[in-house]
Amino acid sequence: MSFTLAIVGRPNVGKSTLFNRLVGKRLALVDDQPGVTRDLREGEARLGDLRFTVIDTAGLEEATDDSLQGRMRKLTERAVDMADICLFLIDARAGVTPTDEVFADILRKRARHVILAANKAEGSAADAGVYESYGLGLGEPVRLSAEHGEGMNELYSHLMPLA
Ligand code: GDP
Ligand code: MG
Repeated sequence: MSFTLAIVGRPNVGKSTLFNRLVGKRLALVDDQPGVTRDLREGEARLGDLRFTVIDTAGLEEATDDSLQGRMRKLTERAVDMADICLFLIDARAGVTPTDEVFADILRKRARHVILAANKAEGSAADAGVYESYGLGLGEPVRLSAEHGEGMNELYSHLMPLA
């Protein structure tokens, strides 16, 4: 059975880096596909023996400060509604921010399944942020480094039972 995974989180936590790692060259972005805009990138992901559709919430970086919160919320809600599972990324080096809390709230209310991932977790500089993320109440975080490809096995083992 196939499923759709949405990667959500505030700008700069590493969503697109993870998306690119999962999708590689199999990017299936289609602007004219119903329900898919430039702000939501869709691709065909592979992780071990799992094959699934992955959605990246992009396009937020260009938003002005004033509209950022509203746009992030709208876009995230759209991605959450399209997804069977949400992968919620935080930046473990930055720790949990107030904006992360806003996302956590949306996910708690709206998402079917949430997997919390503390990204940029390579090295000990991330330890404090990883522990802090337990406080979001979204379960044990997957310790991830999208850039270095660390924690992909752990991500697999979280996805596997939901697939
Ligand atoms: P997005 O805005 O959430 O899509 O974040 P990006 O994927 O564009 O990444 C934002 C920045 O974080 C980029 O400079 C990435 O190279 C960097 N980044 C992404 N993943 C990691 C990681 O695992 N470790 C570190 N140290 N940096 C990362
Ligand atoms: Mg991005």
